[in-house]
Amino acid sequence: MGRYTGPACRLCRREGMKLFLKGDRCYMAKCPIETGRPPPGMHGGGMRRGKQSDYGTQLREKQKLKRIYGLQEGQFRLFFERAAKRRGVTGEALLQQLELRLDNLVYRFGFAASRRGARQAVRHRRIAVNGRCVNVPSTQIKPGSRISLRKAEVKKELIEATVDAAISRGTAPWLSFDREKLVGEVVRIPTRDEIAPIVNEQLVVELYSK
Ligand code: SF4
Repeated sequence: MGRYTGPACRLCRREGMKLFLKGDRCYMAKCPIETGRPPPGMHGGGMRRGKQSDYGTQLREKQKLKRIYGLQEGQFRLFFERAAKRRGVTGEALLQQLELRLDNLVYRFGFAASRRGARQAVRHRRIAVNGRCVNVPSTQIKPGSRISLRKAEVKKELIEATVDAAISRGTAPWLSFDREKLVGEVVRIPTRDEIAPIVNEQLVVELYSK
């Protein structure tokens, strides 16, 4: 599966908001969104943009969501189709599935500084789910599952700073984390209000429903 390997900050600048793709740097004053750098491209800073069409607005929301979770179009579409088959609100089901991806949870627990780093940690077999190595970043994690580091693969001291940074940002109410043992648990499926990305997922549903 292909993935974007270009500069992460460029994606935030394109969307005009922080997508938190780079770990610590995203919380610093030198983040290009904080310093007011314009969108990328030759005309990014100067061009006057006309009113965006409905399609354009829907497309931008979809791109934001894809980029936050680091997915390519094909994979994102699969998530959407799975969400559409579920009972309930499709947009909420889509966000729940994205949040319950293993790489996202590895990032949320602070085992990696960014989702990109989390994906690499999973691929490099550094992560265990319920004590067993899982190396597929898109694995859906069920409530009650416990995520930890594979001790032989990771130096604990290297991970402590990112874990503490994640704790200082606050653990989501649907997750729990044992700092002593460095084990995170999914307590339950999150509700829409508990999911952080500031996107209008309904616009994504409208886009794909055309
Ligand atoms: Fe770069 Fe992070 Fe700022 Fe985005 S939020 S522009 S990835 S530093």
